[in-house]
Amino acid sequence: MTHTTEPSDKALVPFVSVDHMMKLVHRIGLAPMLRGLAENIEADFRRWELFDKTPRVASHSAEGVIELMPTSDGEVYGFKYVNGHPKNMKEGLQTVTAFGLLADVGNGYPVLLSEMTLLTALRTAATSAMVAKHLAPMGARTMAMIGNGAQSEFQSLAMKAICGIDSVRLWDIDPQATAKCAANLAGHGLRVTACASAEEAIEGAQILTTCTADKQCATILSDNMVGPGVHINAIGGDCPGKTELAPGILSRAGVFVEYPDQTRIEGEIQQMPKDFPVTEIWEVITGRTPGRKRAEQITLFDSVGFAIEDFSALRFVRDRVAGTDLYHPLDLLADPDDPRDLFGMVQRAAPVA
Ligand code: NAD
Repeated sequence: MTHTTEPSDKALVPFVSVDHMMKLVHRIGLAPMLRGLAENIEADFRRWELFDKTPRVASHSAEGVIELMPTSDGEVYGFKYVNGHPKNMKEGLQTVTAFGLLADVGNGYPVLLSEMTLLTALRTAATSAMVAKHLAPMGARTMAMIGNGAQSEFQSLAMKAICGIDSVRLWDIDPQATAKCAANLAGHGLRVTACASAEEAIEGAQILTTCTADKQCATILSDNMVGPGVHINAIGGDCPGKTELAPGILSRAGVFVEYPDQTRIEGEIQQMPKDFPVTEIWEVITGRTPGRKRAEQITLFDSVGFAIEDFSALRFVRDRVAGTDLYHPLDLLADPDDPRDLFGMVQRAAPVA
């Protein structure tokens, strides 16, 4: 409480660094962590209606986008800062980086600050697999993984941990990305096949994941490539003017989204009329609406990433780092002894001559 020159424990906010997050993954184990995140996300989707929801606040530039993603369940508030800069990769930088915060709604004080670059990859993969569990065809064992960048191993291993896929077929326009992904996936219990085209990658696959980064309306999958009965997990179309699927696929599929107000701006459905019918995935999870209606139906998860997934992931981290050495206590709050004497606190911190 006392904040003269040394912060006390009470005023310190746990900060989970990238190093801590990596240690957390190893301590829990990647598969159990992905399953734990998916459980938290699914639990929060079940109480969807009580959350504050808004499309994320996006600041667009010619190079990319910087976004803030806030939400609250009435007791805890959370937000994520995240960027998306497809051109970064060519400059040796990441396309996506992020950090996030949880705060106590009761007094507004932050209770956790965390890196979220790794956590975003983990929560995106956990969300994809949790949704695929509800929508993918029965007995799906093979996934095509198109786009073999930073998200790809997480996507593949979450589908294994949560949906039981045992085979992944890789394709990327950059053979080095595919070689990296294949090498990283070795020893994780997946049969990995590097393919020479998107067409080859989707051969025999029941789940088609598109996870490419390009600031344009691309056609990663064309209409004639997609046969009946598959589940498409479309990850990379997540910004105005940045999509991956031919509109004809959307017309033939049952389209499932996180939060329509955001997805209509950012997702694959930005290509469709404003009243294009979609199903909110929380309604499937709670049993209000059927998911897959027929074996031959194409189901499509038009993922853009929603704030509640980050909130659920931060809750997971908060609970799992409590009582461990996996955070730094951060001097983020002023918290003077007398809350009105902020100035006096500064004055008392003057260096002694
Ligand atoms: P990354 O830049 O690390 O990897 C993207 C890969 O796509 C690269 O290897 C690139 O060579 C490949 N690629 C580009 N065009 C291609 C094409 N036409 N065919 C095949 N491969 C192609 O990016 P990342 O961090 O893996 O993210 C991938 C995408 O996922 C980005 O667009 C990002 O914005 C998006 N994303 C979405 C969510 C979500 O919640 N939906 C979360 C995180 C990232």
